[in-house]
Amino acid sequence: MNQYDEIVVGAGSAGAVIAARLSRESDRTVLLLEAGPDYAAIDQLPEDLRDPWISLVAHDWGYSATATPGHQFPYPRGKVTGGSSAVNNAAATRGLPQDFARWVELGNPRWSFAEVLPYYRKLEHDADCGGDFHGHSGPVWIERPRRLQPVSRAFIDAACAIGCAEVADLNHPAAIGAGPVPHNIRGGIRLSTALAYLTPARPRRNLTVRARCLINRVLIENGRAVGVEADTGAGAERFMGARITLCAGAVGTPPILMRSGIGPRAVLERLSIPLVRDAPGVGANLIDHPVIMVVARGKSGVEHDPAVFWEVTLRGNAGGSARPHEMMFPLLSAYGDRILRDYFGAPGYPVIALCPALQQPRSRGTVTIASADPRQPPVIDLNLFSHPDDIRLVSEGMHIARSLLLRPELSAYVDRIAAPEDAIFSAPQNMAAFLRANCYTGYHPVATCKMGPDSDPNAVVDQYGRVRGVSRLRIADASIMPNIVSAPTNLTCIMIGERAADWMLREDD
Ligand SMILES: Cc1cc2nc3c(=O)[nH]c(=O)nc-3n(C[C@H](O)[C@H](O)[C@H](O)COP(=O)(O)OP(=O)(O)OC[C@H]3O[C@@H](n4cnc5c(N)ncnc54)[C@H](O)[C@@H]3O)c2cc1C
Repeated sequence: MNQYDEIVVGAGSAGAVIAARLSRESDRTVLLLEAGPDYAAIDQLPEDLRDPWISLVAHDWGYSATATPGHQFPYPRGKVTGGSSAVNNAAATRGLPQDFARWVELGNPRWSFAEVLPYYRKLEHDADCGGDFHGHSGPVWIERPRRLQPVSRAFIDAACAIGCAEVADLNHPAAIGAGPVPHNIRGGIRLSTALAYLTPARPRRNLTVRARCLINRVLIENGRAVGVEADTGAGAERFMGARITLCAGAVGTPPILMRSGIGPRAVLERLSIPLVRDAPGVGANLIDHPVIMVVARGKSGVEHDPAVFWEVTLRGNAGGSARPHEMMFPLLSAYGDRILRDYFGAPGYPVIALCPALQQPRSRGTVTIASADPRQPPVIDLNLFSHPDDIRLVSEGMHIARSLLLRPELSAYVDRIAAPEDAIFSAPQNMAAFLRANCYTGYHPVATCKMGPDSDPNAVVDQYGRVRGVSRLRIADASIMPNIVSAPTNLTCIMIGERAADWMLREDD
């Protein structure tokens, strides 16, 4: 059978959620299409999908991105059921109320914090924190470290010594300060949406999961989406659906739309793709969190579990900003041989790295295509630091990170700063050049098909995720965020999946 009620493209953080939630109605047929492989049972999972600290190769699309002119870096995206939630570092952090206030200001009143909180609660089973802000019966298990490693404890003490608060629950809406990172890890295994949502849904006869299907384009007839065309390895195949939902992520969804004739007119004309709708916002407005490390040589002979890499973070302010949630400073502590080899090239000593990460960057980039062939990679230009505030704030974050690492509370663990060298810190122009040449990101791309009101010419979807100008076509993934949240993005993408599924179950468009 090639005709379904619902076709969901991309089995990632949002897509797996939508397929699982929609298929709870047994008379609704749901087809979930994924370009990568599928592992139907937890005991089939390869090691790189179990361990959140294995740097991925096997289940990656293999893209690279331009950070700044002349500086490219690998830009991982998960290619497997579970999507990027199956390959990420499993930090389970929510956006803040001020983030969603901004979404409302941008013309999306259904995304206030009060509107999204029930969905953040619905998705989680928080093992540690109770109260009005948490859920305890959702599919995603979230826990914090039971007992901190000594260096992590010392970092929190150092942050408190410079005036930050210690916070037990970084997912509390008022949490600004240093504390343990909530992770969606249980028994050492990263809980992707494939495990958390698809595993219990798989026995349903009305849910079909098709792996290794590369979607080329959406089939559109008379302004209505009627199906998708896929490369299944045995040639092009068509799947017909009463409703199509794209969940291919902020990098994957814009190319599918462009190949379907929905995108900036100039791009489609250059590639001879017949125009269905001129949509300049498709692939525009790309936002990601710029991240860079201050790396310290750690002292040997201290107590540290070699399997622990990231267990504390500081959400705080870089000097000069009125916004307290402007920066995050994750602390990475690498003592195990494999982690040191994978992340730091086996330096021969333990590494303690503090990573200023700008949470509300002003710079905007693009995702586009250079070919109509779906096997060709998209062109990802992050355009980091094109807004002068961003380089100023990250520079300030570098100085804060360095001074934190050199605080007396950490002196039992930090031997000396290994990189960048002192000369980079001594002159603003040296720091700016260093950041432009070395900065990367948290791999949190969003907003490339942003939601917004009719009055916004760059809004690709309305606030319910419905694609403007084409009926029966929705988007639900990181691409529809109108602005980035002040946190790693996975939990927010799952929340988007939950929110969209709820609307889709109640509405028929
Ligand atoms: C290495 C890494 C580390 C990260 N660490 C964290 C972290 O610790 N915490 C956090 O909160 N966030 C983290 N993130 C970000 C987070 O994982 C993403 O924001 C989130 O998973 C995006 O969800 P999504 O549903 O938009 O897309 P994805 O989860 O990427 O899903 C998209 C899916 O669509 C499929 N797809 C794409 N194109 C096609 C096509 N043409 N045909 C068929 N299928 C297609 C993909 O294979 C994929 O399965 C990390 C990301 C990466 C890559």
